Amino acid sequence: MKVWFLGTGTSMGIPMVGCRCTVCRSRDPRDRRLRASVLLEVAGQRLLIDAAVDFRQQALRFGIDDLDAVLFTHHHADHIFGLDDLRPINIFRAKDIPVYGSANTLENLRRVYSYVFRAGENESDVPRIRPVEIEREAFQIGPVTVQPVPLWHGRLPILGFRIGGFAYCTDVSAIPEESGPLLADLEVLVLGALRHRPHPTHFTIEQAVEAARQIGARQTYFTHLSHEVAHAELEALLPAGMAPAYDGQVVEIRRERWTPREQLSDLKNGGDINPT
Ligand SMILES: [Zn+2]
Ligand SMILES: [Zn+2]
Ligand SMILES: [Zn+2]
Repeated sequence: MKVWFLGTGTSMGIPMVGCRCTVCRSRDPRDRRLRASVLLEVAGQRLLIDAAVDFRQQALRFGIDDLDAVLFTHHHADHIFGLDDLRPINIFRAKDIPVYGSANTLENLRRVYSYVFRAGENESDVPRIRPVEIEREAFQIGPVTVQPVPLWHGRLPILGFRIGGFAYCTDVSAIPEESGPLLADLEVLVLGALRHRPHPTHFTIEQAVEAARQIGARQTYFTHLSHEVAHAELEALLPAGMAPAYDGQVVEIRRERWTPREQLSDLKNGGDINPT
């Protein structure tokens, strides 16, 4: 499984329009961050997590010309405003794209994108998407098992996603206890971390490091970073096994399949859950 970091910046991106701070003027290309999103290539499926407002730029930059599904973590603008730019894939690949999200996320998509869901729109004027509501249970996209991971984003319940040895948890300010087992035995964890100063709806760097320690993935990358954090400085500060992600980074993960422990014990007790 391969993971491409398409964007690793906070909602306004870096550089921020009009900002003259040292990070926004940095010459380190790793300090230029589009809005947060990753592309997964796993078992022949191309899965986009969040259609960030920069999706068009990201698709052009990374040569994305096809997608099999979009998974939404939540409905905030930086994570959904790339939806309209799925149209070329509808046209050139002649297919609708399934979009997965919680009931709340899909309800907000219907509200924000009312024109997409209106009957009778000209086909090339609107993205052709197929909403699929997901809850807490694992679901299949082709041969790929995706495990939603409930998270808190301030007071908003949102989702992270786990696929095999990989998990993506952005825009998180607290991880509920029940999600702990869903994040066990990870090769790579991607965790949202905004800046050093406290924020009501995002982990600070320090909170994210502490959460990453508890989760204990072999490697943790931090994403959704603000312009208050320079890549090189943060990299030097973080403990072994943790690093800031950067746009264009590609990570390989060996394990494509994973079964939660409870399901494994169900299985031993004669349950009928498919262990793949
Ligand atoms: Zn965000
Ligand atoms: Zn700045
Ligand atoms: Zn958000």
